Amino acid sequence: MISWNKVKYFKSYEFDDPDFPGSGKEINGTLLWQLVKLRKDTGWPIITHWRVGGCIDVLGNHGHATHSYHRKDRGCKACDFHFDTTVSPRYQFFMVAKTGFGGIGIYQNQWHWNNKLLPIGFHVDVRSSSRAQIWKRENGKYIYLLQ
Ligand SMILES: [Zn+2]
Repeated sequence: MISWNKVKYFKSYEFDDPDFPGSGKEINGTLLWQLVKLRKDTGWPIITHWRVGGCIDVLGNHGHATHSYHRKDRGCKACDFHFDTTVSPRYQFFMVAKTGFGGIGIYQNQWHWNNKLLPIGFHVDVRSSSRAQIWKRENGKYIYLLQ
């Protein structure tokens, strides 16, 4: 169990499935720990996409892949987010990449937030390193870097 009163930078609701208030408490502890580290190392606020089902997905009905790590039955091991910062997308990626996530999805000019196009947003998850993958979405198509 995560001791939420000791967690810096995040509240559990920031990982909720929007259809299940309180579900955010079940976010994977390693994922949370890495997000806290990323937040601390960068100083950039992390805006999780829980309102649109971009964190925990309890029933698998928020548009993620069939075996998505967002799903509760897959361990609540994924989070979609963007940084509240004006630093370059490349440097944002650099910081995400060095944190040590097993899966990283890159969404450049793909996501909107508050009616604004985000220069870059990320999916991160803590899958095992034997399944490590990086991908990006472009024109609705997913491009996976590793075979
Ligand atoms: Zn995702």
